[in-house]
Amino acid sequence: MNRIGVLTSGGDSPGMNAAVRAVVRAGVEKNLEVVGIHRGYQGMIDGEMELLAARSVSGIINRGGTILHSARCMEFMKPEGRARAAEKLREWNIEGIVVVGGDGSYRGAHALYTEHGITCIGLPGTIDNDIGGTEYTIGFDTAINTAMEAIDRVRDTAASHDRIFFVEVMGRHSGYISMITAIAGGAEEVLVPERPTDIPALVETLRTGHAGGKTSMIVVVAEGDDAGNAFEIAQKVAETSEFKNTRVTIIGHLQRGGSPTAFDRVLASRMGVRAVSALLEGESGKMVGIHNQEMVLCPLSDAWENRTRFKPELLEVLRVLGT
Ligand code: ADP
Repeated sequence: MNRIGVLTSGGDSPGMNAAVRAVVRAGVEKNLEVVGIHRGYQGMIDGEMELLAARSVSGIINRGGTILHSARCMEFMKPEGRARAAEKLREWNIEGIVVVGGDGSYRGAHALYTEHGITCIGLPGTIDNDIGGTEYTIGFDTAINTAMEAIDRVRDTAASHDRIFFVEVMGRHSGYISMITAIAGGAEEVLVPERPTDIPALVETLRTGHAGGKTSMIVVVAEGDDAGNAFEIAQKVAETSEFKNTRVTIIGHLQRGGSPTAFDRVLASRMGVRAVSALLEGESGKMVGIHNQEMVLCPLSDAWENRTRFKPELLEVLRVLGT
C-alpha cells in the first residue's frame, strides 16, 4: 500500500482534527502518501482532494471542527454515486481510506467496501456516543463538558431568580448526552427520547423538589424528546401547574464546537494511529473502537447493529441525587 485517503463525514465533532492529524502523521511515518478528501463523500465524488504532508496538519490538534470540512451527500446514497466515488479513488491511486464519522458515514463506507472492494477503516467521530463497537466516540467528552459548563452558568442565574430552567441539549435519537450532562450538572430531571415524557409526573418531581426546599431547578431536555422541544415542554408545565416562572436555554450547536478535551485528543490520536496500522495489516470493513482502555477492531456493521444501549441505571442515579 502506497497511498491512503482520509475524510471526515456527517455531523462534525470536536477531535476530528486530532484524528486527521494522527492518520496523516502515522501514514507519513510508515512511508505512505496521505490524501485529504474534502467535504466527505461529496468531495470524494467531485475529486476535491489534496496530498497532505506531516506539516499540513500542524497546529490543529487543539482546534474543533474539521479542516477537511464535512458534508452530507445524497448522491452517495445511490449506487451510481458510490460508483463515481470509487472511480475517483482509483484515479487518484488511493488504495485505502479512513472515514471519520458516525454510523451513517459507516454505512456509506460499508457499501463502498462491499460494492467496489474499496479498503476502508472507520473512526467514530460523533458527539452522541451512541454507536456500537466502542465505549467512547471522538467528540463526546468535549460535548458533555461544554453542556455541563453551560448548565453551571444557567444554574447561577436560575438560583438568583428562583426560576425553573429547561435546558435543551443535542440528541435527536439518543438521550445519552442529556443523561450524562444532567448528572454532571446536578440537574433535577432529564427528559430523553428513550423514555416517554409524562408532563404530570414531571410536575410532581418539581413539586417534590420545591417542597424539599429547592427554589430553582434545572430540567435537561434532549432535543428529540417525544413531548416536544424545550419551549413546548416549558409551556405545558406553565399551563398545567403553579410553576409559571420558567425559562428555556437551547445549547444546540455550541456543543459541536470548541477545543477538544484532552480525552478526545488522546482518543482521536490513538484511533488514528491504529487505523493506519490496520490498513497496513490488510484489514478492511472495520472500525476502530476503545474497549477497556484498549484499541479494538470490529466490523463496521457493529456501529448500527450493536448501538450503545440506553442505561436506565443513569436515570436512577439522577432520580436519587436530584431530590
Ligand atoms: P453521520 O455519519 O454523522 O451519522 P449521516 O447519517 O448524515 O452522518 O451520514 C453521512 C453521509 O454518509 C451521508 O450524507 C451519505 O452520503 C452517507 N450515508 C449515510 N447513510 C448511508 C447509506 N445507508 N448508504 C450509503 N451512504 C450513506
